[in-house]
Amino acid sequence: MTIYNLGSINIDHVYRLASLPRSGETIHSRDLSHGLGGKGANQSVAAARAGARVVHLGAMGTADDWVLDRLAQAGVETDHIARLPHQVTGHAIILVETGGENSIILHGGANQSLPDETLVRHLTGIGPGDILLMQNETNLQPEAAAQARAAGATVIYSAAPFEIEALRVVLPHISILSVNEVEAAEAFAAFGEDLPVQGLLVTRGAAGAEYRDLSTGETFRQPAYPVEALDTTGAGDCFTGWFAAGLARGEDIPTALRHAAAAAAVQVTRHGAGDAMPDRAEVIAFLG
Ligand code: ATP
Repeated sequence: MTIYNLGSINIDHVYRLASLPRSGETIHSRDLSHGLGGKGANQSVAAARAGARVVHLGAMGTADDWVLDRLAQAGVETDHIARLPHQVTGHAIILVETGGENSIILHGGANQSLPDETLVRHLTGIGPGDILLMQNETNLQPEAAAQARAAGATVIYSAAPFEIEALRVVLPHISILSVNEVEAAEAFAAFGEDLPVQGLLVTRGAAGAEYRDLSTGETFRQPAYPVEALDTTGAGDCFTGWFAAGLARGEDIPTALRHAAAAAAVQVTRHGAGDAMPDRAEVIAFLG
């Protein structure tokens, strides 16, 4: 069973500063590091490290080959990532002040210009048992969701960054909606609690996660594992990627939730997003 992930690929440029610049101010950076980010890439890496076959559908500029190498090292299939000559790779300029406050500039770049033929060429093989994973950081979401659903695949959608209009358009085609607490509240306010999906996955940080099966009314609760969190960036992507990998492997919901929570617990004890996703051996060792 394959996970097709229509997702963003970003380079995170992290600048560490004594204080965040005010309007008109110039500040020297104390440190600069580059990492792999983007909700799409993060979820692909998480699912691949969890052991799933992951085909990433996305777009980048023509430079930055290291990004593809990083995805491939994690086990993600990168052949279907378009290289766009007139676009830059999506990136985030992340300014981190001593003490932890941050400001972020996100430039979508190639992530918002996926060519239409991406789906025609690369999603035609999707079928029952396969999963289409999506987040709200690329174009082509409604088209991909409709195509995957019509082919009998499960569509898992992370409604982040949250936009009511984007969710409204894809909602009829989603099987499982994955949201954090804040996004869940916004979705309920806009569409009511009785969402037209089979499953609703809500993550609540250190308070854990729950999965509601809306066809049976059953709720599965998964506490978070107590750990000393260092950096929670990408914890939600780790959880969703691992949960999708569990379903692709045929795990039942409680097992997929337990593994996802353990993976996210390991992930938050490390710095970084995509680069911090644990593999199966690490998660099995964590669970003892
Ligand atoms: P992000 O936007 O940073 O990716 P999110 O808001 O989408 O995160 P969260 O709900 O914060 O996602 O976290 C997802 C999951 O990660 C939680 O359900 C939990 O299992 C795990 N997690 C997050 N924070 C912690 C923590 N401090 N300790 C243990 N587990 C955590």
